[in-house]
Amino acid sequence: MTLDLDHFKRELEAERERLESARTAVDHEGSLLEESGDISIGQGDHLADSATETFMRELDEGLEENAENLLAEVEAALGRIEDGTYGICAACGKPIAAERLEAVPYATLCIDDKRAQERL
Ligand SMILES: [Zn+2]
Repeated sequence: MTLDLDHFKRELEAERERLESARTAVDHEGSLLEESGDISIGQGDHLADSATETFMRELDEGLEENAENLLAEVEAALGRIEDGTYGICAACGKPIAAERLEAVPYATLCIDDKRAQERL
């Protein structure tokens, strides 16, 4: 099986751009949300209601970690494309199914190992 690395590279670069611009956009909103990452939850600049704001900030703090982690994973996946290890399961060394990479381009584990990990 040969992976279309160019395809996945484009996917990953688009994802990286999306995560980075989401983070930048939130940074502009104010110091409370520093280094926060808003990923596709439709948060705008129009949060007048403080309860909503608090809720959104809590939600955002959860997403912050998420966006940072995702960005790190996307970067790592791009690195693996460069060094030729992309699409190889980090646990068992077998190729990760193309359909799985299509869904999760920065996946490091094959579906079997991912499931095994989630059971821990
Ligand atoms: Zn595996």
